[in-house]
Amino acid sequence: MALIDLDKIIVKRTILGIRCTVCGGNLVVSPKKSVTSHLARILSLGTARAEDYECETCKKRYVLL
Ligand SMILES: [Zn+2]
Repeated sequence: MALIDLDKIIVKRTILGIRCTVCGGNLVVSPKKSVTSHLARILSLGTARAEDYECETCKKRYVLL
């Protein structure tokens, strides 16, 4: 009997075209908001939509502006 983890499939959206610069792994949307993306939003007076990403393989964090 196959076990399908639906939560993982929904949460882990793979960002096409963006790869981890360290290991070349897939970047997925991070559920946690980083301080960097929060600051970017404040500094841009709320106009920048900063998204947090995390490497699936090495867990390096990225902020996409
Ligand atoms: Zn990586």
